[in-house]
Amino acid sequence: MPSTSELVVHDDAIRANTAYFASVTGNQLMAVLKADAFGHGAIAQSVLDAGATSIGVTSIDEALKLRNAGVRAPILSWLNAIDADFGAAVQAEVDIAVSSLALLHAVGRAASLVGQRARVHLHVDVGMARDGAPTDAWATLCHIARELEALGSVRVVGVMGHMSCADRPDHPQNQRERLIFANAVRTARRRGLAPSVTHLAATAATLTGVGSGFGVHRIGAGLFGIDPSGTTDHLRPALSLTTHVVTTREIAAGTSVGYGLDHVADRRTNLALLPIGYGDGLPRAASNRADVLVRGRRRPLVGRFSMDMMVVDTGDDRIAPGESVTVFGPGAHGEPTVAEWAGWADTIEHEIVTRVGMRVGRIHRTKTPENHR
Ligand SMILES: *Cc1c(COP(=O)(O)O)cnc(C)c1O
Repeated sequence: MPSTSELVVHDDAIRANTAYFASVTGNQLMAVLKADAFGHGAIAQSVLDAGATSIGVTSIDEALKLRNAGVRAPILSWLNAIDADFGAAVQAEVDIAVSSLALLHAVGRAASLVGQRARVHLHVDVGMARDGAPTDAWATLCHIARELEALGSVRVVGVMGHMSCADRPDHPQNQRERLIFANAVRTARRRGLAPSVTHLAATAATLTGVGSGFGVHRIGAGLFGIDPSGTTDHLRPALSLTTHVVTTREIAAGTSVGYGLDHVADRRTNLALLPIGYGDGLPRAASNRADVLVRGRRRPLVGRFSMDMMVVDTGDDRIAPGESVTVFGPGAHGEPTVAEWAGWADTIEHEIVTRVGMRVGRIHRTKTPENHR
């Protein structure tokens, strides 16, 4: 069977969202393309064309893939284990975020071995106790970083933090985290460092404004049309997931559907089998809640989702095998949105878009010629 499910990436929407963030950040936009660009694939050239000035990812591997694809813009990698290949990052001119003395020394050693200075962003924990150096370790981290600068192995080019509650602009924690970040930057300068970029805000902090005034904005979700703060209507969703009917059948009232037989048809109806399931990233928690769009109408998915299949109740409509079904999309034609899927599964949109599995083919749709490398 050919690939019957497709994830269409709307590059136009990503470019429009990028241009929007470039404008609201005063062209201080780091496009966050971690996790395969939140599941959207090869879109680095699109976001750079549309106004992003640098790129952020988690691992050095992700950064090197972008370099190998020809990306020349600055790239920051902010999450690496102590034994990561920092030497390769330094040679590829990938900036490295550092949140501990152990990481700082590992980066410094790797840089000395390859004979090139590492470009480092020191990362301070402003409140969520996840990544970043605890504030009581910050002054020492800055001090040792300055010593490594004097020895020639690193240069501190940035200071970063990440906010915990920016999707709730009234939360008192926001003001606290802004103060902690401002103090951390001041401490870094007092210790003799001269970071040329600082960055605190991600999508929510940018849209609500609680992270403004701190230099570069690291934007991920927003580029893909996701607004964690629920405060804007300027963004366009950038994915459509479609599939095709495999087979159909008519069932009598009282017929049960799927594992556990927990859906029972209350009337004579038609079912269509779709070749996509939780193994392709659709959350099983949305079983017996979600809809799909069939022939321009919303129709309910019935029974528990299987790994590879789901069943849709098409009512009186007899669908032909091969007919197209929209699982989600921007919503302009009545199809469910990623936001609705997130609601059906009690999760956030980020989880829906990053989980679409590798059996689903990817298609990039754009009005301008695309760089496929
Ligand atoms: C994922 C991530 C971002 C991007 O966050 P969005 O809310 O998706 O814009 C920014 N900074 C860090 C440290 C991240 O891990």
